[in-house]
Amino acid sequence: ADSYVGFDTITQQIEHKLLKRGFQFNIIVVGQTGLGKSTLINTIFASHLMDSKGRFAADEPVRQTTEIQAVSHVIAENGVKLRLNIVDTPGYGDQINNEGCWDPIIKYIKDQHSAYLRKELTAMRDRYIQDTRIHCCLYFINPTGHSLRPIDVIVMKKLSEVVNVVPVIAKADSLTIEERDRFKAMIREEMVHHSIRLYPFDTEDTDEEEVQLNESIREIIPFAVVGSESNVIIDGKAVRGRKNRWGVVNVEDATHCEFVHLRNFLTRSHLQDLIETTAQIHYEAFRSKQLLALKE
Ligand code: GDP
Ligand code: MG
Repeated sequence: ADSYVGFDTITQQIEHKLLKRGFQFNIIVVGQTGLGKSTLINTIFASHLMDSKGRFAADEPVRQTTEIQAVSHVIAENGVKLRLNIVDTPGYGDQINNEGCWDPIIKYIKDQHSAYLRKELTAMRDRYIQDTRIHCCLYFINPTGHSLRPIDVIVMKKLSEVVNVVPVIAKADSLTIEERDRFKAMIREEMVHHSIRLYPFDTEDTDEEEVQLNESIREIIPFAVVGSESNVIIDGKAVRGRKNRWGVVNVEDATHCEFVHLRNFLTRSHLQDLIETTAQIHYEAFRSKQLLALKE
């Protein structure tokens, strides 16, 4: 007799449901004006999602405080829908005195946790809770080649307590490969020195293969990236790139910069883990603190 029951189709049933619903991914970009935040997001997702006009655009006001601006887009690839919330932080780090300029960012991240908790607590009326919790914070470091600024240390530390922080060296084409590698080593030392605990995290659930993968990511962080929304011709082929005083940079060439590593990490290897870690570590920490406070 045929002993096939058919429950192995549950994976297809789950897939069907997930595809219908789509995936929500919320990302925040933090760093001074002009560091290429908008350009990088547009390059990663191969779509023009954010205005990338730069510091000297005529209609850009000089901001006295950090603003929070969120935009939503749905992008699709082979039938998989990704709902993206991209949160920009114009004005961050642009002042002479930057004391407290991170407060609106931390508040925004916590507010999303708080909104989610409220929806969770008001019974199970919504079958599916709209998720605005930030899954990833791309932190843009000035390519000075020297060291982190005090504000970078303070803010990455504060952010890493509430969100998955992924540091990147912005506009890495302004450094030579040697300068870049020295800068990366220095930044890594400073992170250790200031006990900044960065994503990815290994937990009891992390298997051997994932531990290896996470280790290889830690060896690259901070990603030295170059973004571009226009093409350059290299060997007769049009590629995403930039011309600078040393020549042409192919954004997608791993010998030129680490853009491809960052994109693979964000979209191909850790997208699901960023989402899960947000729920299981950052949101859970927020939630248990809130619930404890309620009891007191
Ligand atoms: P944002 O203010 O951080 O969002 O920066 P934008 O994305 O608007 O970029 C500011 C300016 O820097 C624009 O003129 C971009 O073309 C340029 N830019 C963006 N990314 C890079 C990069 O990786 N390298 C270099 N050299 N310039 C870049
Ligand atoms: Mg921008």
